[in-house]
Amino acid sequence: MSRQNRFVRGYAVSKADVDVVVVGAGFAGLYLLRELRANGFSSRVLEAGGDVGGTWYWNRYPGARCDISTTDYTYTWDPELHEQWTWSEKHATQPEILKYAQFVATKHDLYSSIDFDTKVTSAAWNESAQHWNVETSTGESISARHYVMATGCLSIPKDPDIPGTDRYRGPVYVTGRWPHEGVDLTGKRVAVIGTGSSSIQSIPHIAAQAAELVVFQRTPNFSMPAFNGPQPSDRVARLKADRKAYETEARLSGAGVPMELPTVSALGVSRDEAFAMLERSWQKGELLALGATFSDVGTNREANEVICDFMRSKIKEVVNDPGTAELLSPRGHSYGTKRPCMDTNYFQTFNLPHVRLVDLRKTPISTITETGIEFGDESKEFDVIVYATGFDAMTGAIVNVDITGKNGLTLKKKWEHGPLTYLGLTSVGFPNLYMITGPGSPSVLSNMMVSIEQHVEWIRDTLIDLREGGFDTIEPTPMAEEGWRVHCTDCADITLFQDTNSWYMGANVPGKPRVLFPYIGGVGRYRQTCDEVRARGFLGFELVGSGKKQRNDGIVRRVQPDVDMVLEMMGQLGLPPIESMSPAEARAFSEASSAMRPPGPEVGEMIDGTLPGAGGPLEYRLYRPATKGPHPVVVYFHGGGWVFGSHVSDDPLCRELCKNADVVIVSVNYRHAPEDRFPAAADDGYAALQWVVANAASLGGDPTRVVVAGWSAGGNVAAVTAQLARDNGGPALKGQLLLTPVTDGSRQHGSHHENADGYILTKSLMEWFWNHYADPSDRSHPKASPLLARDLSGLPPAMVVTAQFDPLRDEGDAYARALMGAGVPVEHLEARGHIHTSITMVDALPSGKPPRARMAAALRRFLH
Ligand SMILES: Cc1cc2nc3c(=O)[nH]c(=O)nc-3n(C[C@H](O)[C@H](O)[C@H](O)COP(=O)(O)OP(=O)(O)OC[C@H]3O[C@@H](n4cnc5c(N)ncnc54)[C@H](O)[C@@H]3O)c2cc1C
Repeated sequence: MSRQNRFVRGYAVSKADVDVVVVGAGFAGLYLLRELRANGFSSRVLEAGGDVGGTWYWNRYPGARCDISTTDYTYTWDPELHEQWTWSEKHATQPEILKYAQFVATKHDLYSSIDFDTKVTSAAWNESAQHWNVETSTGESISARHYVMATGCLSIPKDPDIPGTDRYRGPVYVTGRWPHEGVDLTGKRVAVIGTGSSSIQSIPHIAAQAAELVVFQRTPNFSMPAFNGPQPSDRVARLKADRKAYETEARLSGAGVPMELPTVSALGVSRDEAFAMLERSWQKGELLALGATFSDVGTNREANEVICDFMRSKIKEVVNDPGTAELLSPRGHSYGTKRPCMDTNYFQTFNLPHVRLVDLRKTPISTITETGIEFGDESKEFDVIVYATGFDAMTGAIVNVDITGKNGLTLKKKWEHGPLTYLGLTSVGFPNLYMITGPGSPSVLSNMMVSIEQHVEWIRDTLIDLREGGFDTIEPTPMAEEGWRVHCTDCADITLFQDTNSWYMGANVPGKPRVLFPYIGGVGRYRQTCDEVRARGFLGFELVGSGKKQRNDGIVRRVQPDVDMVLEMMGQLGLPPIESMSPAEARAFSEASSAMRPPGPEVGEMIDGTLPGAGGPLEYRLYRPATKGPHPVVVYFHGGGWVFGSHVSDDPLCRELCKNADVVIVSVNYRHAPEDRFPAAADDGYAALQWVVANAASLGGDPTRVVVAGWSAGGNVAAVTAQLARDNGGPALKGQLLLTPVTDGSRQHGSHHENADGYILTKSLMEWFWNHYADPSDRSHPKASPLLARDLSGLPPAMVVTAQFDPLRDEGDAYARALMGAGVPVEHLEARGHIHTSITMVDALPSGKPPRARMAAALRRFLH
């Protein structure tokens, strides 16, 4: 093949003025080039290396392999490849993967459009000409309408930040830039610095040659055996049976590999059972299998610790010296929050007599010398030093190019506090700039072949849309970009990633901002989002052509990510609407759903009893903290639209508030409609409050410190009870906690229309509730609609929580404002991205935790 001949098969392009410049000839650049050509875009690919392959061109260290199985880590866009290429192993070696890249490039005649040994040094947006000026290390200047960074997430090795690195006179090797001719380490004294993935793969091979090997470790990593061998037969069989279905499953999966979704909590089974399940996953030798054993290891530290314990037990089993085993055992970071590794005999290597492990936390390197390394109180000579110190991941290669957008803004400057992108693909101020697997996309948290193909196809389709629509430029809007940043942060916030110093968080590079660089919302959901953006007329983008402009401002994902998943699951279940049921059916349905929830935290004591209501005895449940009383008391009213629910139906929420606010909670089963219509619930609320205060001492409570609280219709009962207590001369209340309360029977507020459907509580369900509870003529009575009370002054301090995607949002907001207007101290929490039900879902939806913590804090403030 000739790399010089770029004018073949009619793809001749002028050396400047191309439609698209692509930087990088790894798997991303190659596929994009092929698609650009196939769709008639003139293009050039510029590559710093001497051949195609990217990662697999540069990383030639001994033992380099992929760790996603090659049945999955392979192109899907050319079906012929599946016949023409057979991977020899489950986890192919670097030479084999490089050969594959070369094979594809040759087959599709891609070499002819690639300039090798050509580094892109700068790219500047020319606003008047509406194109990019790209400068290269070869002195060339190219203009292009569109500019794509296919520069890879792990392509810039990190410089070792160790004193004296320049002093050493012996040979130095960096795993990510290993010499092409290989290195003979036979009989040598070798130091390896770093114990990340590359090191874990290479150490057994280096040890096999070296006379002496010293491994310098700062942080131990979790690694599992690859059990390499032929392609897994079950996968091969599935691919043979229906390749298309398999690929679709991969594209819609969490990490780009078909995987059954776990449903079992690591804390929901015994330790022995958990370990037995993990052992089955371990034996698969699949990178993602362990993390996919349980449903909660990504979000719950305690659950994650089960895997960590299992992994540490495995290290102890194979490493002979207990001290070394302990040193190799990761502690202090959750499994998966640093990239897990796959190895072949890594831990066993430390049993060899000539291999030694040095703990850099205890004995840091003071300096590299001319002949070796000084660490602790030792000075040791080495023939060779190998740096396996990782990469300036995700953004390193992008900001390595001097990219200047509109108004002289550089990308480096814009990203100084963290990368800002829309979809991880584009960035405000940089029209027609695209990043493949950029920060803010699943990228390194996925099988990257799937993510690369998805980005290439999105860019291709976008360019086609622009051309067909007569648009020259595309740029995201600030609102869309900010919305994406918030969504990425919301996703990260419910995971354990933020607590770990990892390269995912930029923590391995001094001065790099600390944010989670990849998008953790999942490959499938991410793909749907990108598709949705295009389908909705490029939501969040401004498109400009000669004499025309299309600005479709907006935010693509506004619901909290875990809430979104619940909504999607509910949608898939295709349940009948509650309002189509009889009250009895609705109650049975509600009870059945409640039975499946996590129970909430342990409390000191739970006692069921009865109290006198306004129309007869009412059941209650008392939750007492484990701490010493007497405690302040919360009289709590459950949700359920006055029709269903009971004193136990908000159990998890009551338990959590009891524990976190250190209060006694008395949850009351007020009478329900339609059997007992308005004002039964309100009258019961007030009667219950009176009884609780009168009997507080015998309940272990303090009658002088009492609050009313409630959720939804229960929030309505609580608000009304507070008004009745004021109007009837007591009992005196210290506060009221109203969670997404019903406050106005008119249902005229905007959120009833805006959030009418799709967020579990619907406009029509609310109508059903009201019809069961109160005649239209009664609904404006303040005992039904506390917002409509003539006077709201003199009420106890309030915390009002409203949810953004709740039909009741605006009436809750209005009540908070009206209370404030009447001089009542109010804390108003507008829970962003939440729906009517999500904040109550204790231990099921992590995003509900912060608002509930605020609620507990408010109770403490009112009461302690
Ligand atoms: C050792 C190792 C193992 C991996 N194993 C897996 C795995 O098992 N599964 C998985 O999904 N992913 C794995 N990855 C991630 C891997 O990077 C991707 O899977 C994939 O190869 C990335 O392809 P790419 O084309 O996006 O980028 P790359 O392959 O990184 O290619 C980018 C290219 O851009 C070029 N470039 C960068 N800057 C410039 C510039 N300024 N001018 C010109 N050229 C430039 C680089 O020279 C490089 O060739 C691994 C990464 C490493 C380092």
